[in-house]
Amino acid sequence: MYKAKAYAAPGATSPLAATTIERRDPKETDVQIEILFCGICHSDVHQARNEWSGVMPTVYPCVPGHEIVGRVTKVGSAVKKFKPGDLAAVGCMVDSDRTCPECKAGLEQFCPNFVLTYNFPDKDTGKVTYGGYSDSIVVDEHFVLRVPENLNLAGAAPLLCAGITTYSPMKHWRVGKGKKVGVVGLGGLGHMGVKFAHALGAHTVVFTTSPNKKDDALKLGADEVVMSKDANEMNKHAGSFDFILDAVAAEHDLNAYINLLARDGNLTMVGAPEKPLPVAVFGLLFRRRSFSGSLIGGIAETQEMLDFCGEHNITSDVEVIPIQKVNEAYDRVVKSDVKYRFSIDMASLKAE
Ligand code: NAP
Ligand code: ZN
Repeated sequence: MYKAKAYAAPGATSPLAATTIERRDPKETDVQIEILFCGICHSDVHQARNEWSGVMPTVYPCVPGHEIVGRVTKVGSAVKKFKPGDLAAVGCMVDSDRTCPECKAGLEQFCPNFVLTYNFPDKDTGKVTYGGYSDSIVVDEHFVLRVPENLNLAGAAPLLCAGITTYSPMKHWRVGKGKKVGVVGLGGLGHMGVKFAHALGAHTVVFTTSPNKKDDALKLGADEVVMSKDANEMNKHAGSFDFILDAVAAEHDLNAYINLLARDGNLTMVGAPEKPLPVAVFGLLFRRRSFSGSLIGGIAETQEMLDFCGEHNITSDVEVIPIQKVNEAYDRVVKSDVKYRFSIDMASLKAE
């Protein structure tokens, strides 16, 4: 074990503060990474504030962060993919059983024995896993990703969650040329969804509650922008979408979007609001529409997404902050006051 610097939430209502945590020394198949940037996902806020207490109660102290990029500092003797000095990234998972049908299919995110990057039982420390708001992390090489050298690192960090969470369902539902695709909520996930839908060649429509994001949405690659609170604007698109990705973190009306789907159209939810949302079944019966969910993406697909971003020069639009501003940033995430992701410059942790 060695000591690492970190920022942790001591409780659901207390601000995050500097602390020291224990990490395992790299084992044979482990990669140790000096963390350079870590994105702030709305999930970090939900988890740090124990807003998912019914599904994933938070164990304190909680060190969030699952959008991690950095440089390899040490590798175990059996590591093949990485050497010290390489760029490397870690997303939402750090382990899984590798033997179940889900793992064999490359869908580690559905493994019943997966280990999330933070707030999950950690068999090495007997505590919980600690995430990327830290100066280093040690992860089995299977869960470490390669980062294309041409990408801006602060903007690449959010690809590890916001990127894969929007890329994966778009690939699954065959988003591409000739398809009309909607993205609901222009936040961290949503703005990546717009970039991917556009890069995949779809006609891309953004649904937003924020009139001041209209110009940005067009710059990000949207063909059209709809103010979702305007019923007339919404009605113009009734029955016309092949696919809609909903990335909203709060309570909202799903049926308004189901009604916009064409025959066999699909609405996929990636946003994870605290409370259940009602779905009117009749909206699904007519036109054989479907409603589903999606959780991040598997490791192979995450690498595919990063390589796709390397080829198309896609990164997240970020506001880079020092770790000392993390509490202010959380409040701004909740107010949808970020364009479009905070990325923490982890060098700032050296001052603690
Ligand atoms: P975010 O940056 O806060 O974006 C959420 C967006 O939703 C906001 O920018 C806003 O967009 C819209 N919104 C917020 N409040 C709203 C309301 N009351 N009604 C309607 N729209 C509202 O959050 P994020 O980091 O992208 O995460 C989004 C959600 O996805 C979170 O719940 C997060 O936990 C979840 N998530 C899920 C997965 C997964 O694997 N499924 C992975 C990562 C995150 P406009 O201003 O454009 O309306
Ligand atoms: Zn996330």
